[in-house]
Amino acid sequence: MDEYGNTGEGRAARRDEAVRAAVEQGLLGPDSPIVGLLDVTGIQESAAELRTAFDEVTAPGTPVLHAFAVKATPLVPVLRLLREEGIGAEVASPGELALARAAGVPPARTVLDSPAKTPAELREALALGIAVNADNPQELERIDALVRSAVSRSPLGIRVNPQVGGGSIGATSTATATSKFGVALRDEGAREWVIHAYADRPWLSRLHAHTGSQGIPLALMTQGVAETYALAEEINRRIGRPQIDTVDIGGGLPVNFGSDATAPTYTEYARALKAAVPGLFDGRYGLVTEFGRSLLAKHGTIVARVEYAKSAGGRPVAVTHAGVQVATRTVYVPGSWPLRIAAYDGKGRPKSGPEVVQDVAGPACFAGDLLAEGRALPLLEQGDYAAALDTGAYYFAHHYAYNSLARPGIHGFAPGHAGGVAFATVREAQTLAEIVAESGGAHATALTTLRAPGSR
Ligand SMILES: *Cc1c(COP(=O)(O)O)cnc(C)c1O
Repeated sequence: MDEYGNTGEGRAARRDEAVRAAVEQGLLGPDSPIVGLLDVTGIQESAAELRTAFDEVTAPGTPVLHAFAVKATPLVPVLRLLREEGIGAEVASPGELALARAAGVPPARTVLDSPAKTPAELREALALGIAVNADNPQELERIDALVRSAVSRSPLGIRVNPQVGGGSIGATSTATATSKFGVALRDEGAREWVIHAYADRPWLSRLHAHTGSQGIPLALMTQGVAETYALAEEINRRIGRPQIDTVDIGGGLPVNFGSDATAPTYTEYARALKAAVPGLFDGRYGLVTEFGRSLLAKHGTIVARVEYAKSAGGRPVAVTHAGVQVATRTVYVPGSWPLRIAAYDGKGRPKSGPEVVQDVAGPACFAGDLLAEGRALPLLEQGDYAAALDTGAYYFAHHYAYNSLARPGIHGFAPGHAGGVAFATVREAQTLAEIVAESGGAHATALTTLRAPGSR
């Protein structure tokens, strides 16, 4: 095990303790059959590893902003914890910006990227001094108008798509030839357009690409960064001065969902980048990163009670409270997004015993609502708990309201001052009153009163 616990042994031990403590302390039980748990220690470790990894490869004094991609885990207390760990925020909607601001992330440590920014969003970002990456020529025109009309401290750049190719998961491949993001660099005339866009606008000082994501090999990620760097060099050479002073390399480090080990690590990625693109690290460029999944995924666990244990066609089926509402991608696209499941008994202790091939089902009313199909695990019985691991990013923070299932509560955990495990509420469970209110409860007669008078 290295200094950051990358084999994940410490993480697995903390998780087991937390599940048990959650049962003992009543966060989990018959009346609270599903929770999300976040490992505060693990989040801090990942943030430290990220900082150290880039400190090791950058020239002394290089400005580096690690901006957490808020969409991965849009929870204010998480953003606040990361802020305390020196991590900023990458936001891609008014909602995400509001979350970052609620967490106290300063504008100077916030980056706005999104493919569909309205004029009002752009105006607000520039008024606040938030960094903005223009996605396309039309957006750049809007920014031109704002820059002409008011002074802004916002660092501004253009997002490019180096079109280096996709990975194993189409939906998360951002650098294919036809990806919707950024200026497609290999399209006819695009590279020249980008170079002229910078030459015409001395205030454009950044260049942005985000080419990685789950399913993308490291070599392809480094190639995306290498091509972005080569473009920055070309632009600065053509303009004759170092106008681009910062390269935003995006996020997208894949996560290992197969075991507790962290693989690849930030250290491996940073070293691979430095080997492939040494000029990016020689002190001439500041860096921005935008990691999401790799910072949070391994620190979250969904724990759900087994309400019923049954059998169908000879296969045991554990009917739990975690399904499509908290693991949407896994349920709809199980081949691309498999999750490990851990079995705990009714007291929250890891279950042992012979492994049995079984289905772990969710509570939603469609047959495909399975967290895991045909999985070998100690037999789950009524009153046990099934835990879906590595769900700290893009899972329980991304509730899907199928069957009006309530958003579960989320609790952070850390070692308690007096020993044991201490919990803090990150997000309350959604109440039935909130579900009704969010489902038009205040407008119950809206449609019946809309009918023409006298009609039936
Ligand atoms: C989603 C996204 C990220 C984060 O991606 P991860 O795979 O979660 O690291 C970073 N930058 C941009 C522009 C994104 O859209």
